Amino acid sequence: MSMDHEIILKENNLSLTAVRLAVLEALHKHPHSDATTIFSIVHKKIATASKQSIYNNLNTLVECGIVREIKPKGQPSLYETRIGDNHHHIVCKNCHKVMDTECHAFAPCLSPMNTHGFVIDEAEVTFWGICPACQKTNKPKRRK
Ligand SMILES: [Zn+2]
Ligand SMILES: [Zn+2]
Repeated sequence: MSMDHEIILKENNLSLTAVRLAVLEALHKHPHSDATTIFSIVHKKIATASKQSIYNNLNTLVECGIVREIKPKGQPSLYETRIGDNHHHIVCKNCHKVMDTECHAFAPCLSPMNTHGFVIDEAEVTFWGICPACQKTNKPKRRK
């Protein structure tokens, strides 16, 4: 997979640094990870990688559209390499597990009644619920 990542970086005129490639690889294997998780994965491979360099790389990758940033409320930003399909997310209110769900090809609720002249090309929807594992234990870890 790292071959693909090298091509993607080259296409975006980004230099192929070891940390940048490691960030992409970590995100590819662990979608919906936050920066802290990515840092701990990358740091195991590259001991010199700093937390700041992880943040910088994530920002650059998001700006170039290589990585998608999602911001569930009350949580740190999560990152993933699955981009361009405008898929949505289901988040467990209890353990914060995140799952992907396909986009419902512009369901009526995603078509604004009034676009105010905007050209709309994306809708961000987060579905909140309780994941199967948490339903079984039935013991909320985090109550608000
Ligand atoms: Zn859960
Ligand atoms: Zn996703």
